[in-house]
Amino acid sequence: MMAAVTAAREGASVTVYEHRSEAGRKLLMTGNGKCNLTNRRMDARYYYSGCAEGEHIIQSVLAEFDETQTLAFFHEIGLLTYERDGYVYPQSEQAVTVRDVLFRECLLSGVLFHFDTDIYSLLNYEKKTGTFAIGNQKYDRLILACGGKSERQTGSDGSGYELAKRFGHRIGTPLPGLVPLYTGESGWELLTGVRAKARICLFVEGTMVKESCGELQFTAQGISGIPVFELSRIAVHSIYEGKRVEAEICFLNGRDQEAVQSLADRMLVRESVMTGGQLQNAGLSLKQKLTGLVNDKILDFILQKTGGEGLAEQVTRFLFSCRIAITGYGKLDHAQVTSGGILLDEVSAQLESRLCRGLFFAGEMLDVDGICGGYNLQWAWSSGYAAGRAAAGEYFSSPLREKSFRNGD
Ligand SMILES: Cc1cc2nc3c(=O)[nH]c(=O)nc-3n(C[C@H](O)[C@H](O)[C@H](O)COP(=O)(O)OP(=O)(O)OC[C@H]3O[C@@H](n4cnc5c(N)ncnc54)[C@H](O)[C@@H]3O)c2cc1C
Repeated sequence: MMAAVTAAREGASVTVYEHRSEAGRKLLMTGNGKCNLTNRRMDARYYYSGCAEGEHIIQSVLAEFDETQTLAFFHEIGLLTYERDGYVYPQSEQAVTVRDVLFRECLLSGVLFHFDTDIYSLLNYEKKTGTFAIGNQKYDRLILACGGKSERQTGSDGSGYELAKRFGHRIGTPLPGLVPLYTGESGWELLTGVRAKARICLFVEGTMVKESCGELQFTAQGISGIPVFELSRIAVHSIYEGKRVEAEICFLNGRDQEAVQSLADRMLVRESVMTGGQLQNAGLSLKQKLTGLVNDKILDFILQKTGGEGLAEQVTRFLFSCRIAITGYGKLDHAQVTSGGILLDEVSAQLESRLCRGLFFAGEMLDVDGICGGYNLQWAWSSGYAAGRAAAGEYFSSPLREKSFRNGD
């Protein structure tokens, strides 16, 4: 829709083909239904892509339509927003209003919509004339913005990648981008349902590669929550490449380890009680002695792993650096974003295919994925703007454009 509005504002007559019965279904799910539409702390380093040219293209696309221009655009089309710690949401706190203002702007800009229309079987390309045909309709420019491969019921079913392949494009393997991580650690199920503020470090082949802090959510299979999502992209790719992946959790981030150990030491020896003028053993269990240091279920898990001599030291070590093997990750279909897609070294900075003139790409179907916090939608807005503007604006007939094609195609 962003690409469509932008192209229409450049004077093009624009038609959107959407295979669901409404536009922007995935938008409705975003930000737990509130839609975190961008982030004030925008930077290309919060994005990943699988090729060397990626960073330059991401930077140039974000710079052309950054978060300030994005918010000005949404304001202009009637959406009030608010910001909390850099994260931007609609004032309504309803994702549906973001979708609806965009759709309204498309209609007001003269964009035509064909719903329930899957272009996969309808699209044909006549190389000789450079014409894209969808059914009986012919077009001289096409923007593919078919999304990734997650949450298929919203319409992004990966058919866009297959369409791009028909034009000779290579696709970076679609893998889940923002997902929970799984462990096979014994006794992990004891932690089910725990939420804990913690620091988590990711290790690949024994080397620490990234860390993140915040609220971790424990499930029977593993860990979830924003800090985990932030590490998940690297973890998923490393597991996919057959590398050894581990996570180290510090449950007491910011606390002094020695002080905690001396507290644990003290609590472990407190076992006597004065009854009838005599000292007697109170018969406390280990858990009763140590309770109060950390969430009860975390203590259960740790006590199951430790015991015997030097217990206070072992417990404290676990609390500060609990190392677990990461052996799996959430399914692509339930990921918030797809990592992988059309390789950026096959598109120009204006997101036109270097293999086929007049073919542009936008959004998640390109090999770009961002961290949590409004970054993926910002990529959708910025890349939609870049593709819409280039496809319909001055760039299309500029000499600059000629330089981007391969093999004189
Ligand atoms: C649960 C969840 C929460 C999220 N929350 C946030 C958030 O708060 N902030 C954030 O920045 N990002 C969030 N994201 C990510 C964000 O929603 C996506 O990155 C973004 O929607 C990608 O936009 P897109 O236009 O590229 O693709 P999509 O939104 O997937 O749109 C692609 C469209 O193309 C259509 N299509 C596909 N194939 C065809 C075909 N063959 N023929 C016709 N039409 C076709 C689809 O039906 C769909 O409407 C979230 C994602 C999920 C799943």
